[in-house]
Amino acid sequence: MRVKVTLACTDCKQRNYETTKNKKNNPDRIEMNKHCRFCRKHTLHKETK
Ligand SMILES: [Zn+2]
Repeated sequence: MRVKVTLACTDCKQRNYETTKNKKNNPDRIEMNKHCRFCRKHTLHKETK
């Protein structure tokens, strides 16, 4: 049930993180506040395809 997803910074569009999510719990695109090393701050990261 767990699928691999890529998280991209919404500020600079860099793909910074890879994680897994449970498709049953998160059928939609997930969003997480994470530290972006390109922006050097915490930004909202969204799942990309
Ligand atoms: Zn960024």
